[in-house]
Amino acid sequence: MEWDNDPVYQMAQRQFDDVAEAMNLDRNVAVRLREPDRALLVSVPVRMEDGHVEVYDAYRVQHNDTRGPYKGGIRYSPDVTLGEVAALGMWMTWKCAVMNLPLGGAKGGIRIDPTKRTRLELQRLTRRYTSELVSFIGPQQDIPAPDMGTNAQIMAWIMDTYSQQKGYVVPGVVTGKPISIGGSLGRVEATGRGVVYTVMEASRHLNLELGEKTTVAIQGFGNVGSHAALKFAKLGCRVTHISDISGAYMNAKGFDVANVNDYLTKNPTLAGYPSAEKITQEQLLTAKVDILVPAAMHNQIDGKIAQKLQCRILAEGANGPTTTDGDKVLKERQDEIFLIPDVLANAGGVTVSYFEWVQGLQNFFWSAKEINRELSKIMSKAFLEVVELQKQHKIYMRIAAQMLGIDRVAKAMLARGLYP
Ligand code: NAD
Repeated sequence: MEWDNDPVYQMAQRQFDDVAEAMNLDRNVAVRLREPDRALLVSVPVRMEDGHVEVYDAYRVQHNDTRGPYKGGIRYSPDVTLGEVAALGMWMTWKCAVMNLPLGGAKGGIRIDPTKRTRLELQRLTRRYTSELVSFIGPQQDIPAPDMGTNAQIMAWIMDTYSQQKGYVVPGVVTGKPISIGGSLGRVEATGRGVVYTVMEASRHLNLELGEKTTVAIQGFGNVGSHAALKFAKLGCRVTHISDISGAYMNAKGFDVANVNDYLTKNPTLAGYPSAEKITQEQLLTAKVDILVPAAMHNQIDGKIAQKLQCRILAEGANGPTTTDGDKVLKERQDEIFLIPDVLANAGGVTVSYFEWVQGLQNFFWSAKEINRELSKIMSKAFLEVVELQKQHKIYMRIAAQMLGIDRVAKAMLARGLYP
């Protein structure tokens, strides 16, 4: 298939092959899971504000739905590819299974820089893309959510377009919606918070105390990075390094995270933020800190950077932030650097998306306290299950996490059998 030539998809497949071999996975299950179930490729025409028409490449890849409806975000990014979306869809399958959610994995994307388009243009794009997806998605079929470059407003337009076409309101078709139309409390913060819940478990596991002596570096200050930073600050940790697309910044005393968030409500990026020393992204990643959270994009930690990392805990807030070469180094350095792999560290978002979906199906909504309590319980349980596997088989954390997920999917596939 076309995605086979994409380097990000090749990385996801290589990871899968390694795990399949390590766990002696049934060959017939493995050949099926190496490829997504199906994909939709559409070119989306949009009339711009000045009247001319632009056409954008858009995708939705459904990797596997053996354990439940497909689930995964939609990203708007200028260089998204079919292969990247296919890889992310595969990781969603493992992630939902690691968290033991009754959901499968999918991902979508549109090749566009959303920061360069107006609100009206984004609305037209989203509505047209959704109308192309109508027979492909649905609350029992495939449930999109926000990812890089998309947000609650875009989910609201998807929900509205889908509902208009069906002729009745269908809140369960997306998660990450605004609260006013059935969104869940705590969804916006969920991924960042979840990253911190796994770091709390890792600290307990490693006998480290999280407090004012703990230093944290976070790459990317968007949805995941900013909410992780707020939660770390709430625990009393010092967030000493932050970054976004404009560059990386350091404050040895620790940033006033609430103030940084406030700055970002008035400014598009961190550029110009006072009381910060400008550094490079590489200096941020390789800083001597206790905790490093890459929360920007994939392929940030390559072999060279992995050699230079000085953190004790690496919590992958982003999806696929470590390259294959970087991962080899991390595996060699696993006694020095404790890895919390992406499918575990950033699974808080999909977990609260699951809560949102369940609340929507029941038309009964939970309090923020209930959401955070359940999120914390599920994240801790998954963390302990992964560590248990890691200890039992003396394997690398990434392999252990994927093994847990893949094993659950494989058992479900074997129980269901191959149709026809
Ligand atoms: P976002 O668009 O809200 O934020 C991305 C941040 O990264 C921004 O601060 C942006 O300026 C920064 N950035 C972009 N390119 C950069 C670069 N080259 N160098 C440094 N910083 C850069 O996106 P998000 O939702 O926070 O997602 C971030 C990552 O987390 C992605 O890999 C995404 O797939 C993953 N993730 C997100 C969620 C979620 O619920 N939002 C859930 C799971 C995983």
